[in-house]
Amino acid sequence: MSVSTAFAPAPAPAAATGAVPAPLPVLGRDVTVPLVTGGEVGYAALDYAASAPALQRVWDDIAAYAPYYGSVHRGAGHLSQLSTELFENARRTVADFLDCRDDDQVIFTRSTTDSLNLLARALPAGCEVFVFETEHHAALLPWRAADVTFLDAPRSPAAAVRTLQRALAARDTARPALVCVTGASNVTGELWPVRELAAAARASGARTVLDAAQLVPHQAVSVRELDVDWVAFSGHKLYAPFGSGVLAGRADWLGAAEPYLAGGGASRTVARGADGGVEVEWQDGAARHEAGSPNVIGAHALASACRALTEAGPEALAVRERHLLGLLRAGLAEVPEVRVLTLFGEDAPRVGVLSFVVDGWNSSHLAAALSAEYGIGVRDGLFCAHPLVHALLGTDPAGRAGCGTGSLNAVRVSFGAGTPDEDVLRFVTAVRELVTRGAKWTYRTENGRCVPES
Ligand code: PMP
Repeated sequence: MSVSTAFAPAPAPAAATGAVPAPLPVLGRDVTVPLVTGGEVGYAALDYAASAPALQRVWDDIAAYAPYYGSVHRGAGHLSQLSTELFENARRTVADFLDCRDDDQVIFTRSTTDSLNLLARALPAGCEVFVFETEHHAALLPWRAADVTFLDAPRSPAAAVRTLQRALAARDTARPALVCVTGASNVTGELWPVRELAAAARASGARTVLDAAQLVPHQAVSVRELDVDWVAFSGHKLYAPFGSGVLAGRADWLGAAEPYLAGGGASRTVARGADGGVEVEWQDGAARHEAGSPNVIGAHALASACRALTEAGPEALAVRERHLLGLLRAGLAEVPEVRVLTLFGEDAPRVGVLSFVVDGWNSSHLAAALSAEYGIGVRDGLFCAHPLVHALLGTDPAGRAGCGTGSLNAVRVSFGAGTPDEDVLRFVTAVRELVTRGAKWTYRTENGRCVPES
C-alpha cells in the first residue's frame, strides 16, 4: 500500500458559479458567534493572513491517518514504518509543491519564524545580511547577530531592486551574503519583485531566502523559476494549522552548521570521550536540524494542503481571489473615509490581504465593532511589521491611543481559498454602516485593546 494514496481521500468537487470557481471547503463555516447587540451570526473569518482555517480535505487526511500514527525513524513496528514513509513522502510533496531543485532539502520546522531563525543560525562566518525594513519581524529580527544592513522602504518594485543593487554594490564580495526578501507583504498584500531581487543578489554573489508565508497560500511558488536559495513558510497560513513549517532549499550552509537543536535524531553516534565528556557525530541532511520527535501529523497536514491547492489549480484560486479583491475594493471605494495602505500604489498587484485606516476612527475601535456587532473577524494593530506600518501611517513609534482617538494602527482584512463572496460583502456593508451611522455599542480600552462595555 502506498501511504500517500492510502491517506488521501479524493477532494470534494468545487461547484463553479459562472467563471468564478467556488471556495474550497474549510472547517468553521458553520460556526456561529454571539453579537453584543443580541443573537448569533455565522462567523466571517477574514483574518487568513494571521491563520487560515483548515481545509476540509486536510482534516479528512489527518483523520484517515490518525489511527495509524506511530513514532517515526526509529521504531521497528509496522505503524512506525508506515509513519516514517508518510513523513518522508510529505517532504517530497513539499519539494514538488515548491518546484525545488533536485539537490534541495526540505526541513520541517514549526513555522516561518522558526525556519528563518534556523537559517540565521546557519550563516557562514562573516556573512552579511541585507533585508528591507518593511519585512515582518520574523524576517527582520533573526539576523541581528550577523552583519545586517536594513534597507529603506522602497516606493515601487523597481525602486526595491535599485535599492538592493546599490547596497550590494558596496559590499565586500569576498564575504558570503544573504538577501532576505518577502513574497507578499502581510500588511499591504503587495507582491514584491522576488525574481528581480534574487537576480540582483545572484549577480553580486549573494544568496536569497524568500519569506513566502503570505505568498504560498495565494500563488504557485517555483524555487527554480524564482531562482531563490531558500523558501520559508508556515502550515497554519496554508490551511494546515497543525504546528508545521518549512525551510526548503540549499543544503550546504545548513549541512556545515551546528544543529539548530541538539538531541536525538540529529545525532548519528554519541559516546563518552577519553576526557570524560560526550562526543557526538551529527547527522547530515534535514535530520541534522530536526532533533527530537518530529510533528508527523503537522507535516502530513501541510503536505495534504500542498496537494489540495495543486489539485484545485493555482490559476482557479487566483481567479477567485481576484474576484474577492474586486468586491472588496469596490465596496471600500464607496466609503470616502477609508484610506488603503500601500507602498507601491493603489493598483499594485496584491494577494488577498489589505490594510486600511478610516478617518476619524481608531482602528481598534472599528475592528472591535466589526466583531462585536457583526461577527466579522479581522485584525487591527501593527501586524508584527512596526517599521512598515509606521512608515505607511506616518506615525510616531512611541504613540499610543485609546478607543475614541485617531488611528495609530490599521485594520487588516484578509481572505483566501475558503472565503465565500458573502463574507467580503458582509464586511464592506458593515464598514459602510459603521462609518456612516457610527457604532451601536460603546467600547472602552482594556489592556490596550478595545472591548465592548458590558
Ligand atoms: N512572514 C510573514 C510575511 C508573515 O505574515 C508571518 C506571519 N504573520 C511570518 C513571517 C511569521 O509566520 P509564523 O508566525 O507562522 O512564524
